[in-house]
Amino acid sequence: MTKNPKDTPTGRLAHLHVLISGASIAGPALALGLARYGARVTVVEKAPDLREGGFAVDFRGHVHRTVLTSMGIWDEIHARQTRMGGQTVVDADGTPRVALPAEMMSGDVEILRGDLARIMYERTADRVEYVFGDSIATLEESPEGVDVTFEHGAPRRFDLVVGADGLHSLTRRLVFGDESRHLRFLDHYVAGFGVPNDLGLDRAGRLYSEPGRAVAIGNYDGDPDRAGALLVFRSEKLEFDRRDVVAQKRILAERFAGMGWEAPRVLKALEETDALYFDAIAQIHVDRLVRGRVALLGDAGYGATMGGMGTGVAIVAAHVLAGELALADGDHRTAFAEYETRIRDFAKGCQKISGNAGPFFAPATERRIRSRDLVYRLLSSRLLAGFFKKLTEKAATGIELRDYPRP
Ligand SMILES: Cc1cc2nc3c(=O)[nH]c(=O)nc-3n(C[C@H](O)[C@H](O)[C@H](O)COP(=O)(O)OP(=O)(O)OC[C@H]3O[C@@H](n4cnc5c(N)ncnc54)[C@H](O)[C@@H]3O)c2cc1C
Repeated sequence: MTKNPKDTPTGRLAHLHVLISGASIAGPALALGLARYGARVTVVEKAPDLREGGFAVDFRGHVHRTVLTSMGIWDEIHARQTRMGGQTVVDADGTPRVALPAEMMSGDVEILRGDLARIMYERTADRVEYVFGDSIATLEESPEGVDVTFEHGAPRRFDLVVGADGLHSLTRRLVFGDESRHLRFLDHYVAGFGVPNDLGLDRAGRLYSEPGRAVAIGNYDGDPDRAGALLVFRSEKLEFDRRDVVAQKRILAERFAGMGWEAPRVLKALEETDALYFDAIAQIHVDRLVRGRVALLGDAGYGATMGGMGTGVAIVAAHVLAGELALADGDHRTAFAEYETRIRDFAKGCQKISGNAGPFFAPATERRIRSRDLVYRLLSSRLLAGFFKKLTEKAATGIELRDYPRP
């Protein structure tokens, strides 16, 4: 009896052992896809635990919905969605200047980044080996596999290695070359962390800008006590140790000294936070996403800080990579080549729409702040908000999904 090819067991895939570097969004999404096909998966994450924090991330259009449904997490995302309302640009004394409607900012469904990571982690924790507090140290490819040494654990051999380790990916550096070749710095930095909900916001946000710097505060999930602060500032490229949180807090304190509105209270909360996200606003552009038995996934391969598209791209790309490996019955040469072809233009389109969020938050001059407000006053009319939504949705749906084997 001939079987429907969609039901063919993915035999060789079940014999593959895949190492994924990074347990944020892209890593657990791929782990979920591969584990459902029966592959052995190890995820190594340098943080001691699953990282909480980060702002709301959103999904829009039928491609995201199809992928999340096939991953089996669409209902849970809906159950934990934020239902964020609009954002308001305010003056130093809190007077509203422009209201940005929710549909412009939040897509079809929005969820906190940390909640999304946890959903995928919990779905895979019984089938996937997670190693926290460690990192790849070296990678050496041979015809039989990839020999990996770790900072702490014993050396091991894997069939494939996937770098899902973010904007500053170590996997990319080890296999594809120095970061300076791939990271395009966009003249701004961003920081995010939790603050008390002193403004009493209820699923709403406020944004205050001075030339070259901005503070935004948002309450995403209706928790009366908790809010998130976002600091954005324009800057030349800064040299600092990415592991040195004290140094990062110092940079922020200096840059935001003397700022008005809620800035002093936000800086106080900054001193106390132990979950600070601080990074350059930047994009990653690589020539290749795959080399031999190693592939890049998510921000590591085509990241774009802020702009709202990075998480959706990472999820779709993880679905495609797992699906192509299943379709090719574990033959990584075929699967990696297909993955690269299918994801490259899609990811580029999303990067283009994300653009550079820095000048929106922190226009360089007082005059530019006024022009931004004027433009956004126009944009927030329903007609233009609809146009904006269509534009982002066009990028988010700019890929034709193949019919992959059923797990
Ligand atoms: C704590 C946190 C907060 C964030 N907050 C925001 C935000 O507010 N706004 C925004 O636009 N984007 C934010 N991001 C980035 C956002 O999650 C990504 O743009 C997007 O979801 C794509 O995810 P990713 O998994 O490809 O990369 P990332 O989310 O950047 O995840 C990369 C993961 O790899 C890990 N890692 C790094 N180096 C190594 C290594 N050598 N070995 C092992 N693991 C390593 C990191 O700890 C991290 O968990 C945040 C990311 C994190 C981790």
